[in-house]
Amino acid sequence: MRPKLVIGNWKMHGSLAENGSLLRGLLAGVSSVGDVGLAVCVPFPYLAQAQSMLAATPIAWGAQNLSEHAQGAFTGEVSSAMLADFGCRYVLIGHSERRALYGESDALVASKFVAAKSSGLVPVLCVGETLTQRESGKTADVVAAQVAAVLDRVGVVAFSGAVVAYEPVWAIGTGRTATPEQAQEVHSAIRAQFARCDGSVAAGLKILYGGSVKSQNAGEIFAQADIDGGLVGGASLVVDDFLAICQAASR
Ligand code: PEP
Repeated sequence: MRPKLVIGNWKMHGSLAENGSLLRGLLAGVSSVGDVGLAVCVPFPYLAQAQSMLAATPIAWGAQNLSEHAQGAFTGEVSSAMLADFGCRYVLIGHSERRALYGESDALVASKFVAAKSSGLVPVLCVGETLTQRESGKTADVVAAQVAAVLDRVGVVAFSGAVVAYEPVWAIGTGRTATPEQAQEVHSAIRAQFARCDGSVAAGLKILYGGSVKSQNAGEIFAQADIDGGLVGGASLVVDDFLAICQAASR
């Protein structure tokens, strides 16, 4: 039995005032959520705020990106050690917006996964196909190749305790969600890919679904055998919506 996990991805939203009220709301409601891990991945400047408000609470925090380098002349970049300094548990790796808008390749994503592990962070490896790829029947191949690019580089043991998020690109921020059956099919294929390397890592691996998760659809998505929770964008910015999604994960 894998305990469920729900991670909010705030993307580039928020302010000190807005985040303060969002986090206060989540903290007030977190006791209504059962045995579900909760985390928020916030923009870099708000890590200190997340740390000061969430330390010693049941809500973990993390970042949305990191540098593949440990340190040095990389202006504008943020290292895994810096994230660890601010108490981050999670870091998103290879979100589709980073792949599409910032040209992150599979090789770079693999390097970032290595960097995250080097500071003891939990990498959340995001994979998923575009609409064109789905419509041309390539979903399984695309997702398997994105997973393999990291798995072949780091080895299966590095995924012990890591998280994979299946996020069909066509479902992110569009209001269009994969059906529970479509999502389960991909999640089960991802788990099988890991199982071919190591059965126990595969059995313990948390695979989250992301893509327009809402309180209305979360229950049936999270009820699927290989779906271990969600990576939630838009709905994670609204206290009641995010808590309702977390509650759906606890049922
Ligand atoms: C995301 O940003 O990872 C995401 C899934 O966004 P949304 O829930 O808004 O589709």
